[in-house]
Amino acid sequence: MKKIDLHTHSTRSDGLLTPTQLLERAAGRGLRALALTDHDTVAGVEEAMRAGQRLGVRVVPGVEISVDFEPGTFHMLGLGIDLSNPALKERLEFLQQARRDRNPLIVKKLREASVPITLEEVEAEAKGGQVGRPHFAAVLLRKKVVATWEEAFDKWLGKGAPGYMDKVRVSAADAIGMIHQAGGVAVLAHPVQLRLQDDALAGFLDDMASKKLDGIEVYHSDHGPREEAFYLELARRHGLKISGGSDYHGFANKPVEVGVPEVDESVLENLLKP
Ligand code: AMP
Ligand code: ZN
Ligand code: FE
Ligand code: FE
Repeated sequence: MKKIDLHTHSTRSDGLLTPTQLLERAAGRGLRALALTDHDTVAGVEEAMRAGQRLGVRVVPGVEISVDFEPGTFHMLGLGIDLSNPALKERLEFLQQARRDRNPLIVKKLREASVPITLEEVEAEAKGGQVGRPHFAAVLLRKKVVATWEEAFDKWLGKGAPGYMDKVRVSAADAIGMIHQAGGVAVLAHPVQLRLQDDALAGFLDDMASKKLDGIEVYHSDHGPREEAFYLELARRHGLKISGGSDYHGFANKPVEVGVPEVDESVLENLLKP
């Protein structure tokens, strides 16, 4: 089996490895291809491609976009996108600016709840990459405001918590459109996180298929055998391509590894086939 990983994060968003380190890890684990899919940014892709060329790992330019949705989390992966596409660049710029506007508001909310934290501390945690809630969680952990990562989200950063600040999101049709415009393939990420019942998910996928969704992430570190089998069946039923990746961030609290679960190279060939 020639293994690949089509969902990973670097320091350019909320991962802990630089794009180069990520590719070194992928090469060390014998991967043939890796997609870098940072949240709302493609800033790490060129570095990843240079490292991939040196190490003999094919790099698929990617991005992960947050879509407006209730009750769970709806993320859309764009794979095989053209980085220089002006419309995509402009939309990502907009999302990045919205995140920059959001961060000081989270700091303000936390301080109002008597949590000692500054924007400088959070930015330092992001090491020059885009700031997200995991960086806030890391600061809270380091300052011993919380004892665990989960506590950081449950008590302070998650939905309904005092430091929660919603993010600007796009509609599903918008996310699919911006990915298609840039020549990429739109894949529903980790469907388990939508938190839909099985029958509701089927209806949801009908709607997404009509919006020209291309694929569904069948293999993911959050999916067990039951989910894999079910999503595989849904992909068949709804005429969607399949994708898979680890969603590796390098977080110490989560036992996720690059290239796990195993995904075969043929998955990528199928995805990128017109
Ligand atoms: P952001 O994009 O800034 O809203 O941050 C979202 C990221 O925070 C996700 O990709 C997860 O890595 C992390 N996250 C969000 N909610 C939780 C949670 N309840 N527990 C652990 N991590 C979470
Ligand atoms: Zn992330
Ligand atoms: Fe995600
Ligand atoms: Fe992800």
